[in-house]
Amino acid sequence: MIDASAALRQGLLGLSRSKAVRQVIEKAPVSRDVVRRFVAGDGTADCVQAVADLVGDGRLATIDFLGEDTLDVAQASRTRDAYLTLLQELQARELTASGAAEVSVKLSAVGQALPQDGEKIALDNARQICEAAATAGTTVTIDMEDHTTTDSTLGIVRDLRADFPWVGAVLQAYLHRTEADCRDLATEGSRIRLCKGAYKEPESVAFQESHDVDASYVRCLKVLLEGDGYPMIASHDPRLIEIARSLADKQLRAPESFEYQMLFGIRPDEQRRIAAAGNQMRVYVPYGDEWYGYLMRRMAERPANTMFFLRALATKG
Ligand SMILES: Cc1cc2nc3c(=O)[nH]c(=O)nc-3n(C[C@H](O)[C@H](O)[C@H](O)COP(=O)(O)OP(=O)(O)OC[C@H]3O[C@@H](n4cnc5c(N)ncnc54)[C@H](O)[C@@H]3O)c2cc1C
Repeated sequence: MIDASAALRQGLLGLSRSKAVRQVIEKAPVSRDVVRRFVAGDGTADCVQAVADLVGDGRLATIDFLGEDTLDVAQASRTRDAYLTLLQELQARELTASGAAEVSVKLSAVGQALPQDGEKIALDNARQICEAAATAGTTVTIDMEDHTTTDSTLGIVRDLRADFPWVGAVLQAYLHRTEADCRDLATEGSRIRLCKGAYKEPESVAFQESHDVDASYVRCLKVLLEGDGYPMIASHDPRLIEIARSLADKQLRAPESFEYQMLFGIRPDEQRRIAAAGNQMRVYVPYGDEWYGYLMRRMAERPANTMFFLRALATKG
């Protein structure tokens, strides 16, 4: 049985890939106001300033140039170039020193979904981004998208790690396979972001109920925190953060041997509290004008976010 909030979530995630709804939402006058809460701005300068503010405040950042599911080679190249420019600007502002600001890349934005040679194009583009990150003295994390891309994405991460062992991978606790993937990847130096997972997935591959996803998250946390890798605990969930903290204590993990991660604009006071307590707290900072899919996933996660959107719509009338 699926409850009302799960049904709302599934509905919104379905809409996140609808072209018709996308056109309406992008044109709605209210959308920009809502977007500003979750997205650091349209251009590189806005984003770099937001990152400078976070780093000045004791937090770390990972930056996502928004865009996904590209079916155009030129667009994939433009996305790669945006990352190259961003990394130069971050370095010029001394924000990449000791990895304070790194980047997060969606492979579908740099060509993975292209019908011809998609994986090869995505790997080439990601490799160039990794080279630029190495020059700037920082790292790259490869975001995880829907389950049809998991094997391809982990394969590309493996290829990139041959030259750039610091490339981070993302695992999603809602997938049945993830506990086993955690065991495979919890090796020396391996940077792994653990999140719940943000896409609409079928029962055949993913847990559907939130308590099952949370239980899987805890099992995966145990594997990662007991392992030799570098876990990146990406969640806003107070219960899971507390469990992570106590598991890390139990393993006598030094604060620099793992980090917490949250999204830009979500629970900022908690982000500051975690950083002030001596932990590494990294904020995922999206920017750019391709915000539709990202915004819809944030709506799906939390009815309060959807209410915020609807209220803003009503006020604008
Ligand atoms: C840094 C980062 C990177 C990510 N990368 C990926 C990725 O590559 N692939 C992917 O599929 N997903 C990614 N995600 C998204 C992730 O999978 C989840 O969809 C998202 O984080 C919501 O899950 P949650 O763990 O925060 O818990 P939720 O189940 O959404 O929330 C749990 C609890 O957290 C608290 N909470 C949540 N939001 C708020 C809020 N706005 N205000 C106050 N309290 C709140 C509430 O107590 C809530 O009950 C990423 C998330 C983060 C933080």
